[in-house]
Amino acid sequence: MEPIYEGKAKRLFTTDNPNELLMEFKDDATAFNGEKKSSFAEKGRLNLDLSCLIFDELAKQGIATHHIKRLDETRLLVKKVDIIPLEVVIRNVVAGSLHKRLGYDEGHVLDAPLVEYYYKRDDLGDPMLTLDHIAILDVATDAELKTISELGLQVNEFLIGFFGNSGIRLIDFKLEFGRDTDGSILLADEISPDNCRLWDATSGERLDKDRFRRDLGDLLDGYREILGRLQGQS
Ligand code: ADP
Ligand code: UDP
Repeated sequence: MEPIYEGKAKRLFTTDNPNELLMEFKDDATAFNGEKKSSFAEKGRLNLDLSCLIFDELAKQGIATHHIKRLDETRLLVKKVDIIPLEVVIRNVVAGSLHKRLGYDEGHVLDAPLVEYYYKRDDLGDPMLTLDHIAILDVATDAELKTISELGLQVNEFLIGFFGNSGIRLIDFKLEFGRDTDGSILLADEISPDNCRLWDATSGERLDKDRFRRDLGDLLDGYREILGRLQGQS
């Protein structure tokens, strides 16, 4: 097991199998491209609990993902993929950078889900890309982009209902995709409150990482609340 990458929230290690990686979830939290940093004991385990629960539900919907199996509280075995360097953001309700871009109030419900692409480049500040930018960068083919946006919208439709059954509104979220050894597109990385906005359906309380970004309350109380509700349902 050799460490090959340390990111802001996870570490990657090689395994005996060249097509598999071990992914370790850290307790660190960062925001604003790493400018704000902290650590929260148990955050890694909670995020892995939530991500596994959600990826299991997506697999039941027939969505191909990189998950193989959970090894312990913070470590997951995954299929190694060639990550497409795009952060695929799907939005149902205006919040965060979309509020700043369009000037609509946070909470404004979009008529239809919106798909946006950001270039996964911390050194450039993850800029938003148009389809023409993506063509110039040549990071994904038109056919791959079609698959990615269709899968993203399918994940969104399922998760709106899944969270909705627990009294949670899915405002927006970020996905990452990669190519496996056959070149097939797999859903990769994680789906957790680190990369979703999740609001209580009744009170509007923020249950996600905005608690940390904007000092809205204890971060992990929000994550535990989401986990408790989803576990009660699944
Ligand atoms: P960041 O790199 O943005 O700081 P993380 O700390 O979450 O983010 O690091 C996890 C890294 O692992 C990300 O760069 C992500 O693209 C990558 N990754 C996720 N799933 C896979 C996979 N199945 N194979 C290879 N890399 C992956
Ligand atoms: N997001 C993410 N990683 C990023 C940027 C955004 O996971 O590097 C998620 C974020 O948690 C939110 C959605 O993508 O659920 C939309 O984020 P937004 O563009 O509003 O950015 P922010 O204002 O949060 O920086």
